[in-house]
Amino acid sequence: MTSEETLKEFNLRVTKIRLAVLDSLSQSVGATSYSVLQEALDKFDRTTLYRTLLTLSDHGLIHKAYEANGESYYARCFGCTGIDHNHEHLHLKCSKCGGVECVEISEQLKANLAQLPFEEVNIYAKGPCASCAA
Ligand SMILES: [Zn+2]
Ligand SMILES: [Zn+2]
Ligand SMILES: [Zn+2]
Repeated sequence: MTSEETLKEFNLRVTKIRLAVLDSLSQSVGATSYSVLQEALDKFDRTTLYRTLLTLSDHGLIHKAYEANGESYYARCFGCTGIDHNHEHLHLKCSKCGGVECVEISEQLKANLAQLPFEEVNIYAKGPCASCAA
């Protein structure tokens, strides 16, 4: 699905900045930091970029994968809705390259979490990412 089709599917108006944000997040395997996004999309106003990130995450298209030292990292969502972000994965902050990745968790762990009365689960891990560990 293209970014334009994705926006339409979520009943969001197609704007240049929304397309640009979705396109750049879709290109990367891991999460992208706010400053990298801002640099890549510097033709857009900062406030507009910030609001776009909020709108897209409110509607279940992207999520904040990690936050540290005032820097937020964003990644595309797949299977989330505006009502519910449903992330059955953990976030790995690489201790070598500093990248942030969404990593799938086991079916067993998913099943265990599903039995608990949590409203929201955030699992963070630290260590080398797949490409740094190789
Ligand atoms: Zn999500
Ligand atoms: Zn790494
Ligand atoms: Zn994620």
